[in-house]
Amino acid sequence: MHIAWFKRDLRIWDNEAFTNACKSQYVMPLYIIEPDLWKQDDLSYRQYVFLRDCLKDLNRELEKIGQKLIIKTGDALEIFNDINSQYGIKEIWSHQETWNYWTYKRDLRLKDWFKLNNIKWNEVTQNGVIRGLKNRDGWSKEWQKRMNILPYKPPKKTKDHKFNSETIPSPKQLSLNNDGIEIFQKGGRSEGLELLKSFLYKRGKNYSKEMSSPLTAYRSSSRLSTHIAFGTLSIKEIIQETTSRKKEIQKLSNAEKNNWPRSISTFSSRLRWHCHFIQKLEDEPDIEFKNMHSSYNKLRNESDYEFFFESWKKGLTGYPMVDACMRSLIRTGWLNFRMRAMLMSFASYHLWLPWQITSKYLASLFTDYEPGIHYAQSQMQSGTTGINAIRIYNPIKQGIDHDPDGIFIKKWLPELRNVPKKYIHKPWEDIDYIKEYNPPIVEELEARKAAASKVYKLRKEKSHKIESSKVYIKHGSRKARMKKVKKQVKIKKVEIQKNLF
Ligand SMILES: Cc1cc2nc3c(=O)[nH]c(=O)nc-3n(C[C@H](O)[C@H](O)[C@H](O)COP(=O)(O)OP(=O)(O)OC[C@H]3O[C@@H](n4cnc5c(N)ncnc54)[C@H](O)[C@@H]3O)c2cc1C
Repeated sequence: MHIAWFKRDLRIWDNEAFTNACKSQYVMPLYIIEPDLWKQDDLSYRQYVFLRDCLKDLNRELEKIGQKLIIKTGDALEIFNDINSQYGIKEIWSHQETWNYWTYKRDLRLKDWFKLNNIKWNEVTQNGVIRGLKNRDGWSKEWQKRMNILPYKPPKKTKDHKFNSETIPSPKQLSLNNDGIEIFQKGGRSEGLELLKSFLYKRGKNYSKEMSSPLTAYRSSSRLSTHIAFGTLSIKEIIQETTSRKKEIQKLSNAEKNNWPRSISTFSSRLRWHCHFIQKLEDEPDIEFKNMHSSYNKLRNESDYEFFFESWKKGLTGYPMVDACMRSLIRTGWLNFRMRAMLMSFASYHLWLPWQITSKYLASLFTDYEPGIHYAQSQMQSGTTGINAIRIYNPIKQGIDHDPDGIFIKKWLPELRNVPKKYIHKPWEDIDYIKEYNPPIVEELEARKAAASKVYKLRKEKSHKIESSKVYIKHGSRKARMKKVKKQVKIKKVEIQKNLF
C-alpha cells in the first residue's frame, strides 16, 4: 500500500505528493492529528479551527474523485505502525515539511523508523525551500525554476478501499480553549481561491499604498497567509496566477492601470520573501529559540519581566497603537506586517523582553502561524540577526502615521472612545481621561534610547562584525553586498565554509 500523507498541503491540486502516490492503485489519503503537537505553546485553538475547515474541504475534494480522507488521531509513529501491521506499507508520499522544532524532531524519529521497517519515504518539495542547502548562492535561480513548473494534476478517479477513518476531534478533546478570538478566518481551498481572485482583480488595487495601515490592510492585503500556511493553495499557483494577472495589467490603458502595476509588483516581492524566510529555518531549525547571531546572547537576560510581559500580552501597555493592535489580534487572529513588526519591536526594545517568549505568544495568536517566517521576522524585529538594520518603531509615530484620527484605536480600545483626536495617541496628556486608561508602563523615548544604545554598542565590537558576515553568508539574500562582505572580513570562501558547516 502507498500512503499519501497530507501535512501542510491540504489540497489535491498542485500536490506532487498526492499525484505521485495515486500512481499506485492502492492508496490511503491520510491526515494525522497529533495531540502532542497541539499541546505546544505556539499552537492554538484558532489555528485548529481553521485546520478543521481545511480537512472537511479536503475530504469533499477527495470524495469527488472517489475516496475520502482518512483521519487518525495519535502519535504518528504509532499510527504508521498500526497501518503497517494491518496492510503493509510499501511507500509513503509527503511534502518536505519545514515547520516547528517539534515536527522537525518527529520527522527525524519517523525517518529512522521507516528505514528500519523498509518503508520508502518519498518527500517532495512544495515550494522554493531547498533541503540540504550549503549557502544561498544560486538560491533565487532555483526558486524561479521551481515556481515555473506546471501545477501537478490530481487523478480524475481514485479507488475507494473503505479504510476506517475517525471523526475529527473537537478542540475541547485536544484541550484547546478559545483564547479570545471572535472573528474567524474560514479555512478550505474554495475560500482561498475566492481570496486570491478578489485580491488580484479587486481588493489588491491599492495594496502598495494601503498595506501599512491597520485601517485599510484588512481589506487591501491578500489575506492569503493562512491558506499558504495550511497549504490549501500552493505558493507556486499563487505566483503563477499573479504573473498572469501582471501580464493582463500591462495591457490595460493608463487610466485602468491606476495603482495596479505597483501593487502587483510589491505583492510579487512579498511572495518571494515567503520562501526566502522559511529557508532560514530549514537551514537552521534551532533559530526557533536561539539567536541567529550569538553576540546577542549577552542581551535581554533579565528574569524579572513578568509585569511587562503580562501588560503587553493583554494590550495594557498604555500606548494606544500597541494596545489596539494586540487586542485586535487577539480577537481576529490577523494583523498586517507593519503592526506585527511594531508589536515585536516594542516588546523587544522598549520593554526589553526576550523574543523567545514573546514570539511564542504571538505565534499562538496568528492563525497564519508559519514558523519559518515567524521566527526569522521575530529575530529581525528584535535586532538579533546581526545582518539587518536596527529598526525601533516609535508607537506614537506609528499611530499618527497610520491611524491619524484614532479610528482603529477607538474600535479596539473602548475606554478611549471619547478621547479627543488631539490626545488619542498620547491620552496621558488629557487629564480628563487618564483614569480610564493605563498610564504608559515605560517612558517611550527613554526606553527607545536605552535599547538603541545597548544594541549599537554591541554592534561596534569586532567579533560582532565577523559573525555577522557568517550569518549573512548562510542566510542573507544574494545581492551585490555579498562580494563586499567577503572582502570586508578578508576570508576566503573555502575558509568560511570550513568554519560554518
Ligand atoms: C514579527 C512577525 C511575525 C510574522 N509571523 C508570520 C507568520 O507566522 N506567518 C506568516 O505567514 N507571516 C508572518 N509574518 C509576515 C507578514 O506579516 C504576514 O505574512 C502578512 O501580514 C500576512 O498577511 P497577507 O497574507 O495578507 O500578506 P500579503 O501582504 O498579502 O502578502 C502575501 C504573502 O506574502 C508573504 N509575505 C508577506 N510579507 C512577508 C514577510 N515580511 N516575510 C515573509 N513573507 C511575507 C506571506 O506568505 C503572505 O501571505 C510576520 C511578520 C512579523 C513582523
